[in-house]
Amino acid sequence: MEICTTISEVRQALKGVEHPPVGAVLTMGALHDGHLALVRRAREECSTVVASIYVNPTQFGDQTDLAAYPSGIQEDLRVLREEGVDLVFMPTDSEMYPPGFDTWVEPGKVAEQLEGVHRPGHFRGVCTVVLKLFNTLRPDRSYFGQKDAQQIMVIRHMVEDLALSVDIIAVPTVRERDGLALSSRNTHLSYAERQAAPVLYRALCLARELSLRGQRDADTVREAMRECLVGEALASIDYVSVADAETLEELTGIDRPALASLAVTIGETRLIDNVLLA
Ligand code: AMP
Repeated sequence: MEICTTISEVRQALKGVEHPPVGAVLTMGALHDGHLALVRRAREECSTVVASIYVNPTQFGDQTDLAAYPSGIQEDLRVLREEGVDLVFMPTDSEMYPPGFDTWVEPGKVAEQLEGVHRPGHFRGVCTVVLKLFNTLRPDRSYFGQKDAQQIMVIRHMVEDLALSVDIIAVPTVRERDGLALSSRNTHLSYAERQAAPVLYRALCLARELSLRGQRDADTVREAMRECLVGEALASIDYVSVADAETLEELTGIDRPALASLAVTIGETRLIDNVLLA
């Protein structure tokens, strides 16, 4: 497995790659089985698999969140090697944002909903770094987790609008046995908070169940999710949403494919999750 820290090293290393497709998995490290599901899917479908590990500062509004972001680079490299990854790109901040850096990708409406409301500028940072990583790694396919459903939608929009030549592949969310979506942030949870955290998935399952039983009123579903979350003392709600799965605009009636999603802070840790409603 080749480890590169500069863009020119990556370009040099990938010069020899003659057999597409190249599959990319972009991560911020602190890898878990959710990340590995992406890597495994890429390994199955692509002749060359590249991964990046980069905690992108421009997608963090809250600098304490950035400073507290977990890391464990040696262990990350060990698991990527074990999964048969061919190349890892782990740039420094000055490689990605050299002095004078002043060009940004400004995503549109779909980035303004949900996380966009609560984390202004987040998707501008995400799109800018993802475009730069695509330009560096030149993947034919890039694998993203459904756990960050809005991120996939924003990136698909960017790919379409800017005519990027990469297929965006969504991989189902990997969960713990009790339903909690794997996340690097779960390591911040205390024992009591970890016990409380599956309430997110319970609320989402409730939404799915109501919708499967024919409930078409989005407010009723949002209210049921809220009630479920309020029952957990350690949980504080950031948002609860039942939105159009294409535009992420809040629905009145569930009369088209919908995404139920939520952001909840447990103790100090902000967690997000979602499910698609049929
Ligand atoms: P991150 O390191 O949090 O930026 O995540 C890197 C990639 O892994 C993103 O595409 C995430 O959506 C994906 N990912 C994170 N957690 C999970 C999970 N539990 N299941 C599937 N994919 C995930």
